[in-house]
Amino acid sequence: MITRRGFLAASVLAALYGPRTPARAAGQSVPWRNWSGALLAHPAGRVAPASEAELIDWLRRTSGPLRPVGAGHSFTALVPTEGHLLVLDKLAGLLAHDAERLRATFGAGTRLSDMGPPLAEIGQASKILPDIDRQTLAGAISTATHGTGAELHSLSGYVTALRLATPSGEVLDLDREGDPERLRAAAVGLGALGILTRVEMQNREPYRLRARSFSQRTEEVLASFEEQAARHRHFEMFPLTHSDYALVLAIDETDAAIDNPPVPPEEADALGRAMREWAAMPPAERRPAINEVARQIEPSTIVDVSYRVLTNVRNNRFNEMEYAVPREAGAECLREVLATIAEREIDVVFPLEYRYVKGDDLWLSMDTGGDRAAISVHRTAGADYRPLFDAVEPVFRKYDGRPHWGKIHSLGRAELAKLYPRFEDFLALRAELDPEGRLLNDHLRRLFGL
Ligand SMILES: Cc1cc2nc3c(=O)[nH]c(=O)nc-3n(C[C@H](O)[C@H](O)[C@H](O)COP(=O)(O)OP(=O)(O)OC[C@H]3O[C@@H](n4cnc5c(N)ncnc54)[C@H](O)[C@@H]3O)c2cc1C
Repeated sequence: MITRRGFLAASVLAALYGPRTPARAAGQSVPWRNWSGALLAHPAGRVAPASEAELIDWLRRTSGPLRPVGAGHSFTALVPTEGHLLVLDKLAGLLAHDAERLRATFGAGTRLSDMGPPLAEIGQASKILPDIDRQTLAGAISTATHGTGAELHSLSGYVTALRLATPSGEVLDLDREGDPERLRAAAVGLGALGILTRVEMQNREPYRLRARSFSQRTEEVLASFEEQAARHRHFEMFPLTHSDYALVLAIDETDAAIDNPPVPPEEADALGRAMREWAAMPPAERRPAINEVARQIEPSTIVDVSYRVLTNVRNNRFNEMEYAVPREAGAECLREVLATIAEREIDVVFPLEYRYVKGDDLWLSMDTGGDRAAISVHRTAGADYRPLFDAVEPVFRKYDGRPHWGKIHSLGRAELAKLYPRFEDFLALRAELDPEGRLLNDHLRRLFGL
């Protein structure tokens, strides 16, 4: 039996295009690579402060370029530097909580995967989580990382307070009540305003989720997407390229008993074989074969605590482009992206992802000012992603899409300033907090037009 979970868990493409090992010349610094392996940097050194005090002391004593790094899961070059990499792994764990308002403060370097159990112990749970949970809290909010849900913001939308150490070692405590404007800027800060040391999030009481996954014709899913997104707490789909089908995921709260068996290895093997066969066919000839397999996908259901249902393990490494388009334009944009891939016979077997995110008021959130539909395309790590990404980016732009900060795009200051009403305000705040530009790298200079 083939299920949607098995389909996505299939790691056959990792075997086809395994990650490359960096070559290191004698005397070179220890290289840094991002998760997908596409970005390589040679930082002058790594600094891993054991406490806020140690971090602040280091910032005050030193000069020169530096970049904070989380889990290195961004596909864009936000992190690479020839200066120092600041690793905040030791600033981790639950630091404080407010039982009445259901808020909790974690060290900025806490992995999302390490938040669920301590939150459950204090009677709280995250309202939303992204597709995986390996990111750090600071890294995730710095790019407005999101999950899916018509009524759910990105993680940044639930930040109620944070502590930021500026590059000169000044400490700023910003919260929604006391300094709402600067909090709206720093909740999606791209690591360009300072070093986050702690973050307080608005949570809710713990909950269980039932996830039902199935396959359906993409056009049928789109026809009822609004209705389904309103009915389910989370609703999303993974349209298959060169096919008429999508894998669909509908998730709702439940009191049912936990039932979440692992995906059987035979299932991943069967899918691996199928995907290898598709990859060997010319793209224009794949549709009947993929439709046939997609039709046979059996519906499946799991029940578990929220943080185990919302996140997955992704073993098959890839590079990704994602744009958030106004929600009302989402279906048309998705159709045009799929048609572009089909018409240009682009060789990609990775499914797309289509999700809704609720609008917010954060300066650099992709969802600022209104609800958005996030559409992602993926290319297996090691394969050339340019033909796919170059073909679909103009389509995203035609629909006024905003690129995910952590996912590949080609925009710079002129385009970004048109998409974000507070972009220039963000640049002014950046210049105020980091006048020497210690936090700038080549990628940020391009984004900010510096
Ligand atoms: C397999 C996979 C699945 C993904 N799924 C999703 C998803 O479902 N939804 C989604 O929206 N995105 C998703 N992403 C993208 C990912 O969530 C973002 O790129 C996120 O920013 C990565 O977090 P990180 O901890 O790895 O941070 P990094 O990539 O290391 O850094 C990201 C940014 O945060 C800054 N930063 C890190 N720590 C600090 C700090 N202490 N203070 C200030 N700035 C800091 C960095 O300088 C950088 O600018 C996915 C990525 C991968 C690889």
